[in-house]
Amino acid sequence: MTISAPASAVTSKTAINYTVTFPEAQAHYANIEMTISGIKNTTTDVKMPVWTPGSYLVREFAKSVEGFAAFAGGKEIPAIKITKNTWRISNGKASSIKIVYKVYAFEISVRTAFIDASHAFLSTSGMFMYPADSLHAPSTIHIKPYKGWTTVSTSLDHVGDDPFTLYSPNYDILFDSPIEVGTQDVFGFDAAGVKYEVAMCGGGNYNREQMKIDLAKIVEAETAIYHENPNKRYVFIVHNYVKGGGGLEHLSSTVLGAVRDGYATEGTYHNFLSLAAHEHFHLWNVKRLRPIALGPFDYDTENYTRSLWIAEGFTTYYQNVIMRRAGLYKPDEYLGVVAANITSAENLKGNKTQSLSDASFDAWIKYYRPTENTPNTNASYYGKGANVAMLLDLEIIRHSKGAQCLDDVMKYMYDEFYKVKQRGYTEEEFKATLEKYTGVNLDDFYQKYVSGLAPLDYDRYLGYAGYKLVDDYAANNIPTLGVTIVTGGGKSMVTGVMRDGAGWIDGINVNDEITAIDGAAIPEIDKFIAANKKVGDKISVSVIRDGQKMVLPVTLLRNPGVKYHIEDKGTPTAEMLAVRKKWMHL
Ligand SMILES: [Zn+2]
Repeated sequence: MTISAPASAVTSKTAINYTVTFPEAQAHYANIEMTISGIKNTTTDVKMPVWTPGSYLVREFAKSVEGFAAFAGGKEIPAIKITKNTWRISNGKASSIKIVYKVYAFEISVRTAFIDASHAFLSTSGMFMYPADSLHAPSTIHIKPYKGWTTVSTSLDHVGDDPFTLYSPNYDILFDSPIEVGTQDVFGFDAAGVKYEVAMCGGGNYNREQMKIDLAKIVEAETAIYHENPNKRYVFIVHNYVKGGGGLEHLSSTVLGAVRDGYATEGTYHNFLSLAAHEHFHLWNVKRLRPIALGPFDYDTENYTRSLWIAEGFTTYYQNVIMRRAGLYKPDEYLGVVAANITSAENLKGNKTQSLSDASFDAWIKYYRPTENTPNTNASYYGKGANVAMLLDLEIIRHSKGAQCLDDVMKYMYDEFYKVKQRGYTEEEFKATLEKYTGVNLDDFYQKYVSGLAPLDYDRYLGYAGYKLVDDYAANNIPTLGVTIVTGGGKSMVTGVMRDGAGWIDGINVNDEITAIDGAAIPEIDKFIAANKKVGDKISVSVIRDGQKMVLPVTLLRNPGVKYHIEDKGTPTAEMLAVRKKWMHL
């Protein structure tokens, strides 16, 4: 998407400065003073972005702004809102203006700002207004920390010796460079010729030295795919909470949510490293090698693409590939992770309802706006996208007799589009490159798996490596209501109803409280039905719906859930072993 550029009010003589103070950090506010000088026009529009790149939802950051006022020569001048996120300032002949506003920040996530007395996480797209039509303009940011705050962590360069004065060459960089201010524990390591910095916020039982070693292995393994690491400096900002999670990629940094006391548990630590591998892989795939719609960004509206199954799905595939190559997953663990990803994708009804292409396009209104019915209607461009990436990887390895893999596609696309053409790729361009490396016309593959709903033929592709998929539940004939029940406070509440399950067909609703099965109160309903009933049994389910009691006759159906593992398919041939060696990094 290109951004129309009418005559800019801001010229090359323009200087934009922000000063950020925290007089009410304890109440979750930042006060921002923005000065613009070198203005030529008599009116100046400033805007707040409506979304943050990487997280495809219009979040309306202007909703958290208050106390907006504009000044020239020490006097307040007229300013009026003309759209939900645009303020028009009548500056008359004044060529320098000062704007003040406050931002309320109390949403804990990797993609939204959060401020309290202990620290400030400035998710920049929700914090800094920009002069309309001047996204190219540089700016300087002065941070005045709240009492006790000592440290700033960001990929923005600082000016001179002052770590609290930051410089941004343009707004695409500013909005892609979150800033953490507080008392975080900062440590560094060098890898792939790049200075890495880790900022641990909120404490935790992590082992600094081990983390440096493990993150360096991930960085080296990822850099080896592209043969270059385009950053000079890169920052991992880690937010530790009791139950932290999620991550958001940026050009030269990432923000990760983590479990504060989970680092000493192997599974939780591996999840953290795998998340770090995912977000770091994005510095190539999506931040630089990107779908054509994703940059330069339009911060005013949705930026649509049908390629998130590549941007996110391939990255999800690679996070595990990299864990394997870095030696952090052993071969058996890797096969287990692959099987688990297939299991969760196949158990998600939405993958049979919505295509990957549509899921990508509608991320703005579906993936990021989940409802109780989301598991039935939304495909996962992460999980299913990763599985499609795996099929393509195996096809390339087979075609090249173990000489090439999906890495070669990623490197070719990075070189050709990011470095040579200096633009994003179209869907057709990515497909053409996949066809070149698989040696196959992919019309049918795309029709079935990308724009269509055909079941993925895992066995065909895993068979190239001498493996097959086995469903541990295939022989089960266990009955189920097909509803999700959350028990607490002595109540069993329905929170989800699976498409085409018994509850779906016979009318159990989300928000029903199940009080009895066949007239008896049952504490663990799923377990009771699985142990005591048969498929086809007719039972009565007593519920309270909006204060009214009712009894629903329900015919139990077989639990359609699958649970896969991967095993050898007979004795592998030499050809299969060559594919396996490359795919499994043996
Ligand atoms: Zn991602």
